[in-house]
Amino acid sequence: MSRIIRTVLGDLDPAELGVTDSHDHLFIRSPLLPGQELDDPAAAEGVLRAYAAAGGSTLVQWTPSGMGRGADWLAALSHATGVHLVAATGTHQAVHYPPGTDAAPDDLAERFVTELTTGLPGTSQGPGATEGEGPGAVVPVRAGLIKVADDAGRTTPHTRRTMAAAAEAHHATGAPIAVHLEPDGDPHEVLFRLSGRHGVRPDRIILGHLTRFPDRSVYRSLAAEGVHLALDSPSRSGHPADLRAFDVIADLVEAGHASRVLLGADTTTRTARQAGGPARLLTDLAPRLARAFGPELPGLLLTANPAAAFAVDWRTP
Ligand SMILES: [Zn+2]
Repeated sequence: MSRIIRTVLGDLDPAELGVTDSHDHLFIRSPLLPGQELDDPAAAEGVLRAYAAAGGSTLVQWTPSGMGRGADWLAALSHATGVHLVAATGTHQAVHYPPGTDAAPDDLAERFVTELTTGLPGTSQGPGATEGEGPGAVVPVRAGLIKVADDAGRTTPHTRRTMAAAAEAHHATGAPIAVHLEPDGDPHEVLFRLSGRHGVRPDRIILGHLTRFPDRSVYRSLAAEGVHLALDSPSRSGHPADLRAFDVIADLVEAGHASRVLLGADTTTRTARQAGGPARLLTDLAPRLARAFGPELPGLLLTANPAAAFAVDWRTP
């Protein structure tokens, strides 16, 4: 089978992907962000309409299971706005779940595979679904990537379990793996764990939050290993280093690694949404990149690179 990108409305030819926000959140909640929940489908629709008006075609949501990812609304929102949406399976750090929730149960890999191949629990594409068997067929909303997270500090048992499960689900399905990094973690250890230990090809791995590593040798060497780097801007997700995105991108471009760079707004709070969200990625960062590096660079970072990063030879386990 040729390479496709799995959206909430079905499988897409990578050539149809268009301008892509490679890391964002329409819906998310965490005990760490009280009062900042993104949980309103009408507000999400407004975000998508503004993004489409600014030229956006596709948005990849990295919200994993159990964090209010709005699975019931994603298909209807994609229908209503015409924006392709890619949903995630996966799991975050344990601190993002209510007390008593097991963020890494024994059957984690199996859960990931089910969401990638059978569908997110209780969801369907709803009215207008075009795939499936006959009129009125219920077509599930499936995930198109696996999101996991490094823990802060040294590698924890939670990180070891979730990364092993992500790799297992990747090998079963082909799905790409997206990783939230912590500034005091070791992204090379994450890469070694997924790639060296569990055999995931570096070009199937997308590392997020590299703006938070001030040492340019870190992100340059990761790019040289062949991973994709998702850089966050205009993120107001709480980390001041996200404002460094332009400088990090400029450094990677100058070092010859433009083909490894993806862009995302990573909107995780209401405050971030008010500051511009995904549309601002296109109205602010993209024009600045075009002025500095020529008109072709935004097209590479926003269209060609995500088409390569998220396209998969899907396997059915
Ligand atoms: Zn994120």
